[in-house]
Amino acid sequence: MGQFDLILLGPPGAGKGTQAGRIVADYGIPHISTGDILRAAVKNQTPMGLEARRFMDAGELVPDSVVIGIVKDRLQEADTDRGFLMDGFPRTIPQAEALDATLDSIDRNISRVLAILVDEQELIRRLTGRRICRDCQTPFHVAFNPPAREGVCDVCGGELYQRDDDSEATVRNRLLVYNQQTEPLIDYYDRQGVLVRVDGEKEPDAVYEDIREAVGRP
Ligand code: AMP
Repeated sequence: MGQFDLILLGPPGAGKGTQAGRIVADYGIPHISTGDILRAAVKNQTPMGLEARRFMDAGELVPDSVVIGIVKDRLQEADTDRGFLMDGFPRTIPQAEALDATLDSIDRNISRVLAILVDEQELIRRLTGRRICRDCQTPFHVAFNPPAREGVCDVCGGELYQRDDDSEATVRNRLLVYNQQTEPLIDYYDRQGVLVRVDGEKEPDAVYEDIREAVGRP
């Protein structure tokens, strides 16, 4: 049990969403994206969504207690038996400590933390051109990975949109928040001996090869 308990770490725009799609398809593990769960809550106007929205729109982090609750609930579901891929969680040291305690209590361990690293100028270019499918969340880019038909998802035909928090001012704030609050997790997991650094400036296929090598075959 818990053969592939994986975390994708890295700044916004590093390609976590793109790589996550491939990993979960190959390894048969669920994709746990706190960002996706929060966006769904905002869309459905749940009490949690209403609380989270103002933080998300400003590029700030949603309070630890909210996201830790989301992840604890999600880990109760049976589809996490063989593992999971966390994407966008943890983002702070208290979140990482809460995850360690939760996994400990069910006798599981993180197997790998994949830190995808990309230069800051490149992140700004990537994020401000990003477009995402409203229905299946597949990411595209207006310049680097355009869909066959403008505004339409190649995978499911859904409508592509720009996330509210991908505007340039918000992107700069998200990168600042990453540097201050999330980057320390690289050291945290390095000390646990589970960290692998991945060069996120390579082509997506090459990044994925490096990930497969680090994680081991499905
Ligand atoms: P993402 O899609 O991972 O870039 O997340 C979008 C936004 O959701 C972030 O900018 C935060 O406002 C919020 N969010 C997602 N995951 C977390 C987390 N682990 N901790 C705090 N806020 C989060």
